Amino acid sequence: MTAARPFVYLVETMFQRILSAFSPDTTANKLLRLDWIEALQTPGCALCHMGQRKSQRYVETLLNEAVTDVDQRDTWREARGLCHWHAWMATETPHSAGSLAILYADVLRHDFEHLAALTAAALATRRWRSQRSLAQRQQGWLRAWRQQPPCPVCYLWREQERLYLHVLLDDWQEPELAHAFAASSGLCWLHTLRLIEQGKQHTHLQTVLAAQQAHLQRLQDELHEFLRKLDYRLGRHPYGREADAWRRVVTLYVGMRGGQGSEGQDGP
Ligand SMILES: [Zn+2]
Ligand SMILES: [Zn+2]
Repeated sequence: MTAARPFVYLVETMFQRILSAFSPDTTANKLLRLDWIEALQTPGCALCHMGQRKSQRYVETLLNEAVTDVDQRDTWREARGLCHWHAWMATETPHSAGSLAILYADVLRHDFEHLAALTAAALATRRWRSQRSLAQRQQGWLRAWRQQPPCPVCYLWREQERLYLHVLLDDWQEPELAHAFAASSGLCWLHTLRLIEQGKQHTHLQTVLAAQQAHLQRLQDELHEFLRKLDYRLGRHPYGREADAWRRVVTLYVGMRGGQGSEGQDGP
């Protein structure tokens, strides 16, 4: 069994358990579609909102399970805790201080021991050959930092996100879903790209993209209107819908503050 196996196995088991409430498949799709319709009522990218909400739930579950389940501690250690997005979310989760202290103490002990061993070896090394093998060990350690497994919560959410995108494409002909999408703020760029990536072969991709382009067009028009009203010659012209277009275009590119797409997150 490779080092990555237990990690994938554990998060997949948890993911299946979360999904086990949805069966058979059609019920699962219907529930995901209802989630979409609800999230599309909120301003901003619906998938970013769902990512935030679901992640919060995963963080709570992982914090509880990882403390009591020793196998999960290995998972946690391999991933070096959570990513930037989810670690800060965890700190804001009520009663998380104790769990975070236990889990990160374990991660820190492991990394500290590794660094201490490398430092001790460097002090004891005189011979050229030993120095070379020490340099290789250091390189290996640096590589392990760069190639660590994904954050357990990101892993779960990315799986769930794939299901949501799947349902958006599959159920596009459900009028309620298409209407809710048309009346929403559309997707951010990160999720537009993931939609394209995932739906390359899907018959509904072009229609969904046309609806997304209508959102981009509207935002572009509102930005121009905002800039037009900034013109001092117009005096104090009252702002309408375009008042926060400057903020919405930033969100379109970087996602919501402290959410998916924030510092440390991978791209599409
Ligand atoms: Zn988004
Ligand atoms: Zn994460």
